[in-house]
Amino acid sequence: MIKTHILGFPRMGEHRELKTALERHWRGELPAAELETQAAALRARHWQLQLGAGLDHVTVGDFALYDHVAHLIQLFGCEPARFGFTGQEAPLQRYFAMARGITTTHAHDAACGCGAAEVDGVPALEMTKWFDTNYHYLVPEFDSATEFSLNAERLLAEVDEAIALPASPKVALLGPVSFLYLGKSKQDGFDRLALLPRLLPAYEQLLTRLAARGVTWVQLDEPILGLDLSPAWQGALRQAYARLGVVGQPLLLATYFSPLQDNLNLACELPVAGLHMDAVRAPEELLPVALRLPLDRELSVGIVDGRNIWRSDLDAALVQLRKVQELRGGRLWVAPSCSLLHVPFSLRHDKALDSELQSWLAGAVEKLDELRVLKRALWGDEASVARELAESRIARATRIASRRVRNASVASRLKALPTDADQRRSPFPTRQAAQRQRLRLPSFPTTTIGSFPQTPEIRAARAAFKCGTLNEAAYREAMQREIQLAVGKQETLGLDVLVHGEAERNDMVEYFGEQLSGFAFTANGWVQSYGSRCVKPPVLFGDVSRPKAMTVDWTVYAQSLTARPMKGMLTGPITLLQWSFVRDDQPRADSALQIALAIRDEVADLEAAGIAVIQIDEPAIREGLPLRRAAWSNYLAWATRAFRVTASPVRDDTQIHTHMCYSEFNDILPEIAAMDADVITIETSRSDMELLRGFGQFKYPNEIGPGVYDIHSPRVPGTADMLRLLKKAAEVIPPELLWVNPDCGLKTRGWAETEAALGRMVEAARQLREAV
Ligand code: GLN
Ligand code: ZN
Repeated sequence: MIKTHILGFPRMGEHRELKTALERHWRGELPAAELETQAAALRARHWQLQLGAGLDHVTVGDFALYDHVAHLIQLFGCEPARFGFTGQEAPLQRYFAMARGITTTHAHDAACGCGAAEVDGVPALEMTKWFDTNYHYLVPEFDSATEFSLNAERLLAEVDEAIALPASPKVALLGPVSFLYLGKSKQDGFDRLALLPRLLPAYEQLLTRLAARGVTWVQLDEPILGLDLSPAWQGALRQAYARLGVVGQPLLLATYFSPLQDNLNLACELPVAGLHMDAVRAPEELLPVALRLPLDRELSVGIVDGRNIWRSDLDAALVQLRKVQELRGGRLWVAPSCSLLHVPFSLRHDKALDSELQSWLAGAVEKLDELRVLKRALWGDEASVARELAESRIARATRIASRRVRNASVASRLKALPTDADQRRSPFPTRQAAQRQRLRLPSFPTTTIGSFPQTPEIRAARAAFKCGTLNEAAYREAMQREIQLAVGKQETLGLDVLVHGEAERNDMVEYFGEQLSGFAFTANGWVQSYGSRCVKPPVLFGDVSRPKAMTVDWTVYAQSLTARPMKGMLTGPITLLQWSFVRDDQPRADSALQIALAIRDEVADLEAAGIAVIQIDEPAIREGLPLRRAAWSNYLAWATRAFRVTASPVRDDTQIHTHMCYSEFNDILPEIAAMDADVITIETSRSDMELLRGFGQFKYPNEIGPGVYDIHSPRVPGTADMLRLLKKAAEVIPPELLWVNPDCGLKTRGWAETEAALGRMVEAARQLREAV
């Protein structure tokens, strides 16, 4: 018996219909009932695709209007009390309030006249990355008062929709232990595991109701089985499934993203009816699991990559699956490794890709078809899918042989790379002295992170240039005007190290990817990032090289407008890698080093053009960390080396900056220090400088610019606030190492609030210089 299923499907729709509907709803243009109708139509369409591919079940419960974890908060009735819901609000209204916050806006104090708005209200639930993906979930909040109660109407209605198709629904939900694990204890010393006994009855009730509704399988995701778990959390899994396993509703326990390792026995022993494992991320565990899992359980093998966009090697997959079949008496479920949420809807007819590239790739719809072919072949009916198998073989063979993929000069350059290519010429103190000599900056120098407001005019000009209605000369002029404007404003504000403002960049990864060989771009390869926000990651398909300089002209132009140092602005190799779909035919480390060499050339060109300060952004370096701690040191070694290779071709008196945001860094401080940037700017204002304490204790050796205000909010910070944060920073970091800057780039802000905030920031730096 061979079954096929998926763990989840992308929600946005082929043309991001859900995004459009959501944003119309939020603007008040689409009533809730209409939004629900459109959502139901998308679900039905996606189930039809699953039926068309011959899946044995359609997956229900994976759909979410904003986020599937937020759905669970309502399903189990644990909306945080801080939202002050009265119970009179419609559930949908409460849901979006949790997701987006409740804002009350009033104009900024009239006296300041900056035109900005002061905003208060109830902040949204915190958002955090879903394991090592670029999807962000809403973080449940737990405290000792948290109670659970079942609100199953929405989910049951979706089950009914599927049954009415008709289709056999398998309900997929996050399991109770991962749900608690991924939440946050909102009380000092409160252990959210204590809530498990309260939560389990709600799950039990739900399972009973689903069984009564005719649901034959419930998939409970416990991806935390791929993490390093303490005995307490391992015990919680035992406790939870000892209870849920006997309700009578067959359960498929799903794990993904990471090897099971020390949790392998635990995963195989839990008393559930089936186990799904990720055979893409942990191929070495496939046979151990197949042997270990009792034969009366179903084994679901995640063999089609749910995290990447390459077409499967179906022959290789069949070899693996047949081995498992043999070990398990012929019974087997076949699936993608994880939910297809993380891949685009389809890539087969993408207008931006040529037909050869298209033939190498598989989006969610194409992956469904791979499952159909695998099932047929495993049935022994290979003849009926001979054409598909042959096509897949040809695509694979052309990809392996393609000259677009392998570039001999890149390979030989990598091979000839001297071992010290990642080292600056002198140690930091020598460089610092040379840079001080050259740059002559005041103490507590002020700067920004790179981008300035992306006004509608800038976007319009870029779009017109892209579609050809604006010629190159006119476009260059328009961008130069923006640069001029930004430089003028920075001089007036009195900033010390200026930036050109990044007007010409739509996105910090796309801008470089488009100019590097080895990257391709899709027209419609959108993946949900959070809520209605989608990203379109580049596809890194071949050896990387830089045909010509990418940023030098803009930067040199900007420098020509001012006597102050102009900071060149680049995206680092790890961030380019991390925010792209990457090759699966070579180690990530090799791809990183290729990108590093290309950006290194840009660094050298900027220096040669007279630019004295160069920033290499690496906001994504931490999110590349493997989920298992034991794998960290290997990743950090190649990632930091790639950064240093990028940063090291320059003279001592050229100052290298890096910038990081979005995360905690205290657990990787030695590695951040080992990147050896002369200056690091980091996001800290939202943690009230707490993050800096770690840098202080560790005695971080180089210069640091802790962000003094949160650029995510339209709130204009007060001078006193920033001065307080800076003084706090100066308590833990030697003052002579401190820079003054915002948390991140300003592209999402308007000019009025930006100028007001930066004016106050410069003033805070001035007061600080006076005070010490
Ligand atoms: N230089 C980029 C900017 O200012 C950095 C963006 C980021 O850190 N995410 O927009
Ligand atoms: Zn940032």
